[in-house]
Amino acid sequence: MSEADQDAARVRELSHFIDGQHAKGASGRFGNVFDPAQGRVAARVPFANAADVRAAVAAAKAAFPAWSETPPLKRARMMFRFKQLLDEHIDEIATLITRDHGKLFSDAQGEVLRGIEIVEFACGIPTLLKTDFTDQVSGGMDAWNLRQPLGVAAGVTPFNFPVVVPCWMFAMAAACGNTFVLKPSEQTPSPSIRLAELFIEAGFPKGVFNVVHGHKETVDALIEHPDVVAISSVTSTPVAEYIHRESAKHGKRVQSLGSAKNHLIVMPDADLDLTVNAIIGSAYGSAGERCMATSVVVAVGRIADELLERLVPRVRSLRIGGGLEPDLDMGPLVTAAHRTKVLGYIEVGVAGGAKLVVDGRGLNFPGHEAGFFLGGSLFDDVKPNMRIYREEIFGPVLSVVRVPDLKSAIALVNAHELGNCVSLFTTDGGSARVFSRQIQVGMVGINVPAPVPVAWHSFGGWKRSLFGDHHTYGEEAVRFYTHYKSVMQRWPDSIAKGAEFAMPVAR
Ligand code: NAD
Repeated sequence: MSEADQDAARVRELSHFIDGQHAKGASGRFGNVFDPAQGRVAARVPFANAADVRAAVAAAKAAFPAWSETPPLKRARMMFRFKQLLDEHIDEIATLITRDHGKLFSDAQGEVLRGIEIVEFACGIPTLLKTDFTDQVSGGMDAWNLRQPLGVAAGVTPFNFPVVVPCWMFAMAAACGNTFVLKPSEQTPSPSIRLAELFIEAGFPKGVFNVVHGHKETVDALIEHPDVVAISSVTSTPVAEYIHRESAKHGKRVQSLGSAKNHLIVMPDADLDLTVNAIIGSAYGSAGERCMATSVVVAVGRIADELLERLVPRVRSLRIGGGLEPDLDMGPLVTAAHRTKVLGYIEVGVAGGAKLVVDGRGLNFPGHEAGFFLGGSLFDDVKPNMRIYREEIFGPVLSVVRVPDLKSAIALVNAHELGNCVSLFTTDGGSARVFSRQIQVGMVGINVPAPVPVAWHSFGGWKRSLFGDHHTYGEEAVRFYTHYKSVMQRWPDSIAKGAEFAMPVAR
């Protein structure tokens, strides 16, 4: 076999997952999935066309009547079995994540664990669906509320969390009694298929959770399908705005999470050991490809020079390599195209006058020459009008902005159009209190970098980081994935005689 034939033989062919089984799809169109550490094509993923989407939605629609009538306790028991299966397959799923995405295996294991936490929360669905009851709102009349499933819901997810973000959606939607069609990222599609297989193995009926791969055409087909009643998406902000607008136009319930530009503010009284470790991990972990990654450090007052002195050697000594290798700090970027985009931002920063104090370009590893690697980069003296400050970079590039005081730091963050998460490092409780009350950002960490809420607190940004009314997972997900109904009831022998024409009042 020639080398080219061997390469072709190594390329896996992926499938959709519709109505409890793998499906090839009818479009005949495919996308490439890369091994980011080796820079070669590792798999081919089919792109669903409108007919494939119709098949997935039809399966979800057919499963809905029985599933929505299944008592929440029975749904919870299946969810417990699913959680057990996820526990047993953590390393296998983490390997799939690392292969598609490039993040370190330990980081991928952490992602699966965060996904399991969502499933654990969903196991409590009987309690979560419990509602209010008021006895005797009027003579002989009671009132209560119901939370009922919506129907077929769909999800669109990004490349960077191919397990946990789908879990935010399908686990909560299904627990609430909905059926679901997931459109995962075409760049990291493999783990979602394994999740769907394990879902069936856990005993969920076929059609409750379906997966169709693809890109814009697939997403549009979901948005335009009349039987899809709700769409949840996590994407970059331009795509989030598009999905939000188009879904609303088609009468759907929609929540669309978008991009991030997360600031970490360092006060002059901060514990610098704690702070520097926090910055390094949250800025460069997962090669900066996290929506909760720190991308701007705001150094307040006299702390800036010492902070820089400590950061520079740490950024220079980041240990970088293939995600499945041990004892590393970060892996490659997800694709060559994404690496080119991030490299472009470094050039824009230099051209715009920011000081590039650590330059991650030109990194090369023996054995990984074609991999999508980029070293950690650090800019100082970044100004709020620069593109590298205003725009999301989504790579291992950190900017330092210097400000004189806390008031200016808060004003800087509040003026940014994105508001996903923010952190403050300080030893002063008064500053922390003012900060957490005044900051216009959805998720706040005090001496905590990348403050991802745990499964029973909900996740979401403000401003152009989230379009829609609800945050995701936690109790907000129960609100998003259910209709709220108010019931008032009395029985005929207690109904007063005759029609009433005045506004009814309690009697
Ligand atoms: P992306 O916007 O390129 O793609 C995300 C999803 O949208 C994919 O499934 C993709 O197929 C689909 N898509 C892309 N273009 C589309 C279009 N024109 N019409 C319809 N669908 C389209 O994002 P990405 O590069 O996969 O992921 C990184 C982005 O996601 C970053 O901006 C990051 O901040 C954001 N993100 C946000 C959160 C959050 O919680 N707010 C979490 C993770 C990632």
